[in-house]
Amino acid sequence: MPELPEVEVTRRSFAERIANAQILAMHMGKPLRWPLGVATQSLVGRTVLGVRRRGKYLLLDLDQGLLLLHLGMSGSLNFAPSQAVAGPHDHMDLVTNLGVLRLHDPRRFGAVVWAASESAPEAQKLLGRLGVEPLDGQFDVSTFAEALKKRQSAIKQVLLAGDVVVGVGNIYASESLFLARIRPTTKAARLSRPRIERLHSAIVQVLNRAVMQGGSSLKDFVNAEGRTGYFQLEASVYGRAGEPCRVCETPIRSLVQGQRSTFYCPQCQKP
Ligand SMILES: [Zn+2]
Repeated sequence: MPELPEVEVTRRSFAERIANAQILAMHMGKPLRWPLGVATQSLVGRTVLGVRRRGKYLLLDLDQGLLLLHLGMSGSLNFAPSQAVAGPHDHMDLVTNLGVLRLHDPRRFGAVVWAASESAPEAQKLLGRLGVEPLDGQFDVSTFAEALKKRQSAIKQVLLAGDVVVGVGNIYASESLFLARIRPTTKAARLSRPRIERLHSAIVQVLNRAVMQGGSSLKDFVNAEGRTGYFQLEASVYGRAGEPCRVCETPIRSLVQGQRSTFYCPQCQKP
């Protein structure tokens, strides 16, 4: 599923091109995870001021209100001067004078939701519980350490929950913990300050590298320009159960935590 880096890569691939576009029409296909919450007709004539990201949501700021977009499990966006006739998995076309933004989402866990403002209930319902952004200045090591001290669950679970730091999904949590040499099952509250510092910088490093490389937790991930990412090719542990650790050659192990697969090196990553 698209994780934070893929969503950020998607944002960068069309944010500048769609800025100042005027909405000419909006077409919605089959129902998505949540309803749009407004008549499509009422968006005609609005201007797209820009595109921000909060966690895995893209926020299209309009001159009145905003649209929150989520890619769900399998969604991708494409922004192009024109689009072919919508196929069975194309569920939104935002037609503007600068191009058409299309959401393609075979599994339909994605969403397009209108909100009057970011603080309106319909937006807060989706954004309200999100932790700090790992890729901007708010993510500081002391606050991170304070938050972890209060958590009795496994560090991997805490990262995935998204309320301490947002957008560190399954792949990037596994990779960050490998880089920080921390066993995914270690209780968050038991991590020492030096280990937390290593984890903090590992998260930033892993996410930034994924964004730089074009982001891909999905083999078929494509950004809004139609280019694929290749992060998956370089994973240290994710998806490599039984294969030798790239550092010490011990076979990588996998286990299931909270119904998600976790991968780690039993030699490099200490409990
Ligand atoms: Zn190792």
